[in-house]
Amino acid sequence: MTSSDYRPGPLLVDDSGSSTGLEKTGDTPVNAGSMDSLEQVADRIRNCIDCPLSGGRTNTVPGEGNPQAVVMFIGEGPGFQEDRQGRPFVGPAGKLLEGLLASIGTSREDVFIANMVKCRPPENRNPAPPELAACTKYLDRQIELVNPKLIVTLGRFAFGRYFPGEGITKARGHLREKDGRKIFPVLHPAAVLRRDELRPTMIEDFKAISEILNGEMEEIGADPKAIVAEAPITPGETPRVSQLSLMDAVGLAADSSAQVNTSAVNAEEAPRPEQLTLF
Ligand code: URA
Repeated sequence: MTSSDYRPGPLLVDDSGSSTGLEKTGDTPVNAGSMDSLEQVADRIRNCIDCPLSGGRTNTVPGEGNPQAVVMFIGEGPGFQEDRQGRPFVGPAGKLLEGLLASIGTSREDVFIANMVKCRPPENRNPAPPELAACTKYLDRQIELVNPKLIVTLGRFAFGRYFPGEGITKARGHLREKDGRKIFPVLHPAAVLRRDELRPTMIEDFKAISEILNGEMEEIGADPKAIVAEAPITPGETPRVSQLSLMDAVGLAADSSAQVNTSAVNAEEAPRPEQLTLF
């Protein structure tokens, strides 16, 4: 990790509590600190009691990465490991994410990783609408501060922030624009862990992220699969070096990428993970 990498530091609290952003109005605590920097956002999150998830957390998970990241990844919410460590994507789904990032020549230190909700939902259940709503202000501000060129949404909850009511299965892998920001939806890594047949699709979508960032997909709405299709791997053929490394990085035998069958992909039908064991 370089000195420019952002990871929230320990909670800064003086005896009066005034440096935490937690202020009292009568008997009602108001989380009223400013959010002029990522560190201040993280401090606000650490003190947040705006929804019931705060009552069950071990640690908040504000998010971390390069404060000037070109690409920001948004997940759903902390799992078991994340709650323990106060860091996003540090469990099995995180390991897969790291492999996928490596496959396109980047790392978690280069990007910014955040979640829709900053506290772990009990038993890793889906975050409820009021919980998502209570946390939106933090993610909004993180996005403003990092100001990424591209936002990659991981799974249906993050995608739903931008395109409510649409299905991730159809939307994944298609570059979109919303409120002046480029949004690229992909499946959630945990869905890929549950269903190995989704792995080639995920690899394909990460390759597309790399192409987007290389400026090869300037036109909003262009289909990244058209780019990936330029160099198909057919059974028996030796993949290009870059494709080999792509497969190796995420633990997939190179020739199995030929088996991609997008019609078989329906992440929304995927059963919810036993996330306690996954994370
Ligand atoms: N899943 C998420 O959505 N976020 C994490 O931080 C970890 C797992």
